[in-house]
Amino acid sequence: MSILLAIDFDGTLATHDTVDWFSARWAPEDFEAADQALANGEITLDACLAQQIANITATREEIISFLVDTVAIRPGARELFAFCAEHDIEPIVVSAGFESLIHAILQAHGFDLPVSAHEVEFGPEGMRVRFRERALCDHCGERCKRDEVAKLAAGRRVAYVGDGYSDLCAAEEAEVRFARASLITHLEREGFSYVPFENMHDVRIGLADALGVAP
Ligand SMILES: [Mg+2]
Ligand SMILES: [Zn+2]
Repeated sequence: MSILLAIDFDGTLATHDTVDWFSARWAPEDFEAADQALANGEITLDACLAQQIANITATREEIISFLVDTVAIRPGARELFAFCAEHDIEPIVVSAGFESLIHAILQAHGFDLPVSAHEVEFGPEGMRVRFRERALCDHCGERCKRDEVAKLAAGRRVAYVGDGYSDLCAAEEAEVRFARASLITHLEREGFSYVPFENMHDVRIGLADALGVAP
């Protein structure tokens, strides 16, 4: 009865999409243009990410301090991870954002979780993405999280928690899906079942339901 719980970070475990959030703060025009191009299907998610941050010359310390001050972890996370520990569920953050920034936010809120994400380099010319190696996906044509989650699961059942574009493909493959925001729209349209969530208590209760145990 072992389960992998793959959790998106931006807008899912965290209250904000952190990359959108600091990009809109430091490079609002680039943010708008990249976001619109992604929505129009003109660029991939990876290209969107690179464009959003390319001209930001803030330091790592400035970005982290802004994020730690303004981004919270959704309520119920502590209870969710305690539930996971009791029920042989492995939680891992699988993100299309930046690992070191995610760790900094998690640590500031007293959490320590494994994180699989891209990385970022800061420099006087702007921020550059160091992309995590993800396979080009047969289903969506992007370097999405689907294959990585399957590999991490290594045959275990998968529960997936997400909210948006980076989750559309990986969530489809999961056995139990927790969704909010645009992931709900996508799963509804494609005919997949899901449990709606607004906080991590909802996720814990949904997992308990799926396992037939007390939350
Ligand atoms: Mg997200
Ligand atoms: Zn995919």
